[in-house]
Amino acid sequence: MIHPATELRFIGPGIGHGVFATAPIPRGTIVWILCHLDMVFAPGEAAKLPPAYHKIIDHYAYIDGAGNHVLCWDNGRYVNHSCDPTMLGVGTDFEVATRDLAPGDEITCDYGGLNLAIPMSCACGAFNCRGTIGGEDVLRLWPDLDRRTAQSLAAARGVDQPLLEFARDARLFWDYVDRRVPVPSHRAYFSAPASRPARRARRR
Ligand SMILES: [Zn+2]
Repeated sequence: MIHPATELRFIGPGIGHGVFATAPIPRGTIVWILCHLDMVFAPGEAAKLPPAYHKIIDHYAYIDGAGNHVLCWDNGRYVNHSCDPTMLGVGTDFEVATRDLAPGDEITCDYGGLNLAIPMSCACGAFNCRGTIGGEDVLRLWPDLDRRTAQSLAAARGVDQPLLEFARDARLFWDYVDRRVPVPSHRAYFSAPASRPARRARRR
């Protein structure tokens, strides 16, 4: 589930749609949460769906570190990639804002942690644009991603968290914030290549 203070906008024919903030969202806010309405298909399960579904799964679902297909039920499935994303993952269930977002700022994540089957060219315009995004990026980028996630989480106690009531396990989030449970490294987002089906490459 994507943060309620967001909306879907059409960006252009090359990129398609994107998700944008409609109100200030401070750093440390959960911007996306794995909620009970998001569908999680165990490895191999999505492939058993009738073929007509495969295009939808390839287009909109991502692959988590365990090889599950995750299909967001709401506008979360339209979040675009940026090499300097406005939210970063905290374990499998949460993405938090990496900086203070203003109305009109685009909500972006890093597809490098989503196990893309096919490398995606990127022209996101970020100062650190990698040019090409691949499923193994997290194996190289994890120290910086882990550090930025920890810095963002440090602000989580001081901001509103409207998505938490929709969490599958809200207590886990505070366990991460208060360091009772170690935050999984971004390395954990990497899944074995054999379990990676195609995913639509949304280009920015
Ligand atoms: Zn880029």
